[in-house]
Amino acid sequence: MLTPVYDLSFPELSSLMAEFGQPKYRADQIWKDLYQQFWNSPDQFTNLPSSLRSLLAEKLQFQIIKPARVVNSSDGQTVKTLFQLLDGKSIEAVLMRYEKRNTLCISTQAGCAMGCVFCATGQMGFKRHLSSGEIVAQVMHYARQLHELGEVVTNVVVMGMGEPFHNYDNTLAAIDRLNDPDGYNLGARRFTISSVGLIPAIKRFASEKRQINLAISLHAADDALRTSMLPVNKRYPIDELLEACREYVDMTGRRITFEWALVNGVNDTPAQAHLLARKLKGLLCHVNAIPLNPTQGYSGQPTTRENANKFKEILNSHGIPCTIRLRRGIDIQAGCGQLASQV
Ligand code: SF4
Repeated sequence: MLTPVYDLSFPELSSLMAEFGQPKYRADQIWKDLYQQFWNSPDQFTNLPSSLRSLLAEKLQFQIIKPARVVNSSDGQTVKTLFQLLDGKSIEAVLMRYEKRNTLCISTQAGCAMGCVFCATGQMGFKRHLSSGEIVAQVMHYARQLHELGEVVTNVVVMGMGEPFHNYDNTLAAIDRLNDPDGYNLGARRFTISSVGLIPAIKRFASEKRQINLAISLHAADDALRTSMLPVNKRYPIDELLEACREYVDMTGRRITFEWALVNGVNDTPAQAHLLARKLKGLLCHVNAIPLNPTQGYSGQPTTRENANKFKEILNSHGIPCTIRLRRGIDIQAGCGQLASQV
């Protein structure tokens, strides 16, 4: 079986070159070609001898994710790509273009085991973890396209299909690879990992003291409501989760973001806002609230503008910073898993 090229770390690529009897500098060359030239086919590596190009073609797999469907939002600002993996599974990645930023939302799993009721990916169930290379390849796909336009990926949010901390090693290996100053060199602070709150992984992440941003999908301020929306809450209830978040902030000094999908009449109420403010008191954090992306399998509806503003005002009145985000790409089903679930 061919080795997916984006699965290789630099030391692994170097060992492979040694195995091929190549001089050491070939690994540097190929690494730069992959991550700075964005080449993704052996015949593009014209700076290598043709014998080595043939070896690359024989031993390595370059196209490990294949764009199967691309959808552009009507305003052209959001592009969603459905990728087919080599085993036929599907994942999605979304590019959101802002005035000064190009933010990419990538997947870490095909499907998801967390079963959040409002999420199309959760409704699909878990298929499998992505390899680090399949995660890297999503970024490279868009980086290549933007490079052709003279632009770059400025931010990556790991919020697409899957729970990144359920696939911890591959997710972090992918970020480390993209982080490499001799390769793609996208700074750790440009990444945000979004988790439903797997406490052991949060603790591990805190102990690693990385510069990567952390967002936690909270969505409810009491256990009964949160468990009804995010079944994982049964295992990791709110107070224990927030305790782990406090430890994370203490250990890293970094602010944490709480994600909140505002569902009309469910978690956008003044009672939830007051309770949330009490629970977050004294924690270095920010609440990112966004009207729910409707999905077929969930009857909840997005909040109203009035309720959203009220929710934010209540948090602000308790000194908790809150932003109401605009939904992007609703017309192309850009909520994670929506396209894949249609396929
Ligand atoms: S919201 Fe995230 S963690 Fe929850 S089911 Fe969807 S993909 Fe999985």
